Amino acid sequence: MTLIDRYRGRLPVTSRTPIVSLGEGNTPLIRADRLAKAAGLRPGSVHLKFEGTNPTGSFKDRGMTVAMSKALEEGSRGVLCASTGNTAASASAYAAKAGLRCVVFLPRGAVALGKLMQAIMHGAEIVEVAGNFDAALKAALRIAAEQDFTVVNSSNPFRIEGQKTAAFEVAEVLGRAPDFQFMPVGNAGNITAYWKGYKELGGARTHMMGFQAAGAAPLVLGHMVRDPKTVATAIRIGDPYSKASALAARDESGGMIGSVTDGQILAAYRFLAHEEGVFCEPASAAGVAGLLKLARAGRKPRGTVVCVLTGHGLKDPDTAARFAPRRRAFTPGRRFEL
Ligand SMILES: *Cc1c(COP(=O)(O)O)cnc(C)c1O
Repeated sequence: MTLIDRYRGRLPVTSRTPIVSLGEGNTPLIRADRLAKAAGLRPGSVHLKFEGTNPTGSFKDRGMTVAMSKALEEGSRGVLCASTGNTAASASAYAAKAGLRCVVFLPRGAVALGKLMQAIMHGAEIVEVAGNFDAALKAALRIAAEQDFTVVNSSNPFRIEGQKTAAFEVAEVLGRAPDFQFMPVGNAGNITAYWKGYKELGGARTHMMGFQAAGAAPLVLGHMVRDPKTVATAIRIGDPYSKASALAARDESGGMIGSVTDGQILAAYRFLAHEEGVFCEPASAAGVAGLLKLARAGRKPRGTVVCVLTGHGLKDPDTAARFAPRRRAFTPGRRFEL
């Protein structure tokens, strides 16, 4: 069953909406006892919502199935997005499935290799922007409005609607919404979507704990960052589109938005792969880095904790390659000591 069919009653679709699906959602919630131990929490209290198993390898597919289905229903000329990579990968795949034109604005030299390859292979029209993501988004929004293309960034409310289904899945597996949720924050659509999802389930009890990279932390600093810098390209964003709703999610839930350094992000990224068997991309590890940072400062969460791992590690082979160990050689015919 498609994600839209599963949650039809809670999504803005009708029987006339043509569903564009690649089998998104229904991602695993993985018990993470080594991570719990590292954070000083009891076994069974920490889970990873691994969104890397979505069809294009990130949670963007949840929103894209709804946004693309609605674009098709509305007779759109084509779709357009600005992207640090995953929105482009997802939009290009779903547009290919829908048979719609897809134009992606990418900040030049700032997109992880795997994501760029996805956009190429799905046949998107790629526009290189001489500037960062924030500049690309501004340009994309203006050009789409002038030329009547459908924007499939998280400024599109159908994206948020689709993405809130991840909160439903978490609550189904746990039997109720978690007490704490740790997650990365970039353009801030996803924290907005999860909070909307948890609120729709009623009782809204989850403390929303968002983490930005220290070099790209406008919501922590309280002002936009002109030249955001971080290894975690998916959250290298200086002027988040959904900042108001992210701050509302923080405040209504009694949560926080904090920052973690690139060193902390990469340590969490490696820990998850080495100790939990889950390979996510660097940005995805920001929430886990935040959990470990708070735990070390004696600010341990109580109750059940979910960490959202937003995208797959294979998206960014260049960052993974930094961790290459020294390799041993084997010569046939010679003895090899394990
Ligand atoms: C898009 C994305 C984010 C950031 O999500 P926002 O909704 O922009 O806050 C984080 N991690 C990954 C892997 C992403 O693709």
